[in-house]
Amino acid sequence: MTRPAGTTAGLLELAARRATASQCRHKMAAVLASGNRVLAARPNLRRNSPRIDFHHATFHAEEAALRRVRNTAGTVIYVARVNAEHIPMLARPCRTCQHLLAAAGVVRAYYTVGPGEVGRLDLTGLDHAAPPCPRRTRPRA
Ligand SMILES: [Zn+2]
Repeated sequence: MTRPAGTTAGLLELAARRATASQCRHKMAAVLASGNRVLAARPNLRRNSPRIDFHHATFHAEEAALRRVRNTAGTVIYVARVNAEHIPMLARPCRTCQHLLAAAGVVRAYYTVGPGEVGRLDLTGLDHAAPPCPRRTRPRA
């Protein structure tokens, strides 16, 4: 864990602001950036009602951001989760998203851990050939 600084802190703050707009129980957002240039900033989204289709109930913020950008090679993603009081919470990308991000060429993820605390995940070493979770049904646009 490190203290956020400079661009990392600014982009995580942007992600945290976007997360407050999420309608999901876990309020998350992801900012995809190339250097300090923001390419996409998306909260997680509802897909289907959990009563109908539990496995596709939400559309993770990381995937929502990826889908907004055509060329994601070499980008960095900033993922934030906030609670109802807008306090940053642990937002480590799930294994499915880690593999999606690695397959899209995203090199690194920074994520909120708690107030003022940031985690870092290097994605370049991930074997992205085999996503571990079979929840890959494409949502309708
Ligand atoms: Zn995920």
